Amino acid sequence: MQILFLGAPGAGKGTQCKRVAKQLNIPHLSSGDLLREAVKAGTEAGVKAKSFMDQGVLVPDHVLIAMFRDKLSSPECAKGFLLDGFPRNLAQAEALDAMLKDIKKDLLCVVDLKVDPGLLTERITGRRVCTNKACLTPFHIKFQPPAKEGHCDTCGSTLMIRDDDKEELVAARLKTYNEQTAPLIEYYGKRSILKTINGDGEPEAIFTELLAALQSKCHA
Ligand code: AMP
Repeated sequence: MQILFLGAPGAGKGTQCKRVAKQLNIPHLSSGDLLREAVKAGTEAGVKAKSFMDQGVLVPDHVLIAMFRDKLSSPECAKGFLLDGFPRNLAQAEALDAMLKDIKKDLLCVVDLKVDPGLLTERITGRRVCTNKACLTPFHIKFQPPAKEGHCDTCGSTLMIRDDDKEELVAARLKTYNEQTAPLIEYYGKRSILKTINGDGEPEAIFTELLAALQSKCHA
């Protein structure tokens, strides 16, 4: 089962994608998490990516395309995958179409998680994430606080603020999304696989709605 999530930074994609992927037993491929891992590990891709991420703009397409081409053809993706954060512009979407053709798979459902733009900044700046790279569970100081302040409910590790979640970068990231990623809604809207979900409510209710949508769209 091949699923793709679209949504602005702060729409709650990370939280929902993690749960959906676990429920459907498919790998969650988050471009942001993969890039942050590469930055931490100091790989060639990570070194190239860092300066772009620090400015809230997109990392060059060839870095992401090479990263995802490797991933999608790996055995861990044989039964499907959930894409989160890739593609992020039209060139990447076209490259993804070509990759899927090569591995003889189709995207079964594209979810657009929509949130009132006025809420996004508060959602991003209040976000905290687990420092354990095998966990990376996201929290929010107001909307989804951990049981013990500063610690992950899942594994107990400390929580941190992502470098690019600081207020000064948020406007740049939202501008990048509106200019480059939002046009993908129309790109996938032309196929009958796009499903829009309102991401403004309670995470639990959104998760239930997502599963129902995936069941009807791709028999998840
Ligand atoms: P995210 O965690 O998805 O918000 O991504 C964090 C940052 O990683 C973005 O602001 C971009 O700089 C970079 N990034 C993530 N995915 C992509 C992508 N598909 N193409 C280019 N840059 C990306």
